[in-house]
Amino acid sequence: SLFPGDFSGNPMQRQTPRFLFATVDLAEFKNPELLIFNEKLSKEIGLGIIENEKDLQFLNASSVPESVKTYATAYAGHQFGNWVGQLGDGRAILAGEITNSQGKKHEIQWKGAGATPYSRHADGRAVLRSSVREYLMSEAMHHLGIPTTRALSLSLTGENVLRDVMYDGNPEYEKGAVMVRIAESFLRFGHFELISAQNDTENLKKLADFAIENYFPEINPESPEKYAEFFENIAFRTAELMVEWYRVGFVHGVMNTDNMSVLGLTIDYGPYSFLDEYDLSFTPNTTDLPGRRYAFGSQAKMAQWNLWQLANALFPLIKDEKRLEKILNDFSETFWKKHDEMMARKFGFNGVLEGDDQFFSDFQQVMQDAKADYTILFNQLEKLQQDSDIQEHFKDIFYVPLSENHLFSFENFIKNYQIRLTKNTISREESLALMQANNPKFILRNYLLFECIKEINEGKKELLNQLISALENPYEERYPKFSKKRPPIYDGQTGSSTLSCSS
Ligand code: AMP
Ligand code: MG
Ligand code: MG
Repeated sequence: SLFPGDFSGNPMQRQTPRFLFATVDLAEFKNPELLIFNEKLSKEIGLGIIENEKDLQFLNASSVPESVKTYATAYAGHQFGNWVGQLGDGRAILAGEITNSQGKKHEIQWKGAGATPYSRHADGRAVLRSSVREYLMSEAMHHLGIPTTRALSLSLTGENVLRDVMYDGNPEYEKGAVMVRIAESFLRFGHFELISAQNDTENLKKLADFAIENYFPEINPESPEKYAEFFENIAFRTAELMVEWYRVGFVHGVMNTDNMSVLGLTIDYGPYSFLDEYDLSFTPNTTDLPGRRYAFGSQAKMAQWNLWQLANALFPLIKDEKRLEKILNDFSETFWKKHDEMMARKFGFNGVLEGDDQFFSDFQQVMQDAKADYTILFNQLEKLQQDSDIQEHFKDIFYVPLSENHLFSFENFIKNYQIRLTKNTISREESLALMQANNPKFILRNYLLFECIKEINEGKKELLNQLISALENPYEERYPKFSKKRPPIYDGQTGSSTLSCSS
C-alpha cells in the first residue's frame, strides 16, 4: 500500500492559523486515470507502492486517509516587479508531511485538484500539457543534480478544462490532470511577504522560527543573530541555485517572489525552457515580452532583486540595514565567484586562473553573436583534439550561418581555449571527467516536450518513456536523436519554443 506506516498529514505544523492557510476539500473527479508514478521517489520519502484502489484514489485526489486535513496556504508576492498583496495556492492543495525511515520530512501536494480560497477567478485546475511539463522538468532538474521540487505522480482527471491557448489565440478545451508533487517544503519568499505586509511581527517570527528549526540545521536557533543568518543562508542558497541554472542553461521564465523557494529549490514550472541557442536576452515566457525581465542573462540580477523584497519582509526581525545591505552585496560576489568556478569546470579547467573572468565574458560575447547551441557546444569541446579542423568540428552547433566576423571570433575563441587548456595542472583524463560531470548530454528541450505531449494526447507513451529514461541519466547519451539541436520547423514557434504564463 502507499501507506505502510502512519500518515496523519499533520497540517498544524505551521502554527500560524487564520493567516497562512485555509482547509479545503479536493475536487471530485469522475474518471481519473494514472499516467505516471514515481515509485523510487515514493519509497524514498516513506510512502509505498500502489496496491489497491485507495492508493490510486490518493494519487488522483479522489480520496485521502481519514486523518488527513487538506489545506492550501496563502502568500503574497511581487509579480513582474509589482506588489500583489493576496495570492496563495490557487491550484495546489497540501496533504501535510510524511516522515521517512531516516526521519526526513517531505510535504505532499496535489496540483490541479480544485479551487481554493486563493484561486481568485481561476478554476484550480491544471491541464495535461502543463502537468507533463512540470512532472518531467522537475524530475529532469533533480537528475541533473539541481535542487528542485519533485514529481510523484501524474493522473488524468477525466475532465476537460477550458484554457485560453495562446499559441493559436482561440480558447480551447484541454485534458485536465492532477499531479502530486513533493518538496522538503513549499515555503516561498511570498509567505514571509504576506505576514510582514500585515504588520504581524509575532507570526512572522513564528514562521521564521519554524523554517530555521526545520530546514536550516546550519543555524543555531539560540543565536541572537539567527534571523540575519536565516536571510544570509537563503541568499547563499539562492546564489548557488542561480549558478546551477546557468550551468545547464535553464530559464525559469516567471521569477516572481511567490515562485522563489526559501529553501533554494527550483519551484513552479510554467513557461520555462532550456536554452537551445545561446542568448542572454532569451525569455521563454511570452507574457514577459517586451520587457524580458526574466531573460536568461538577467536571472541572477532578478534573484537579487527578489532577495531585496525578502529583506524588506524580514526587516522587523533583523532591524539592521547595514547587515542586510552587506548580505545583498555579498550575493553578487558569491554568485560571480561560484559562477566562474562552475564555468571553469564546464571547460575542464582545474580552477579559476587570473584572466579567466575575461575568458568567460569573451565566451558570452562570442556565443551571443554566434547563437550556437549551448549544450552541444560543450559536448563538442569534450571531443575537440589539438589538430581538429575547428570549422568542421563545430559545424552542426549553429542555428544561423555565421558572418565572417563572427566565425573569425568563434575560431579565435576556440584557439584561446586550447591555449588555456595547456595551463591545467591535471591530466587530460581528469579534465575530461570534470567536463563530463558538469555538461549534460541530454537536456529536456521544449520541442521534445511539445512532441511528447502531442503523442500522449494521441494515446501513445513511447516518447514519454524514452524521455523519462533520458532525463534520469542526463550525463549519458541514451538516445543520439535527443542530442541534436532543435529542428528548424520549431524555430520561433510559440508552444514549442516559448509559452505564456498561464501555461
Ligand atoms: P504562477 O504564475 O504559476 O506563479 O501563478 C500565479 C498565481 O495564480 C498563484 O497564486 C497560482 O496559484 C494562481 N493560479 C494559476 N493558475 C491557476 C488556476 N488554474 N486556478 C487557480 N489559481 C491559479
Ligand atoms: Mg506560482
Ligand atoms: Mg505556476
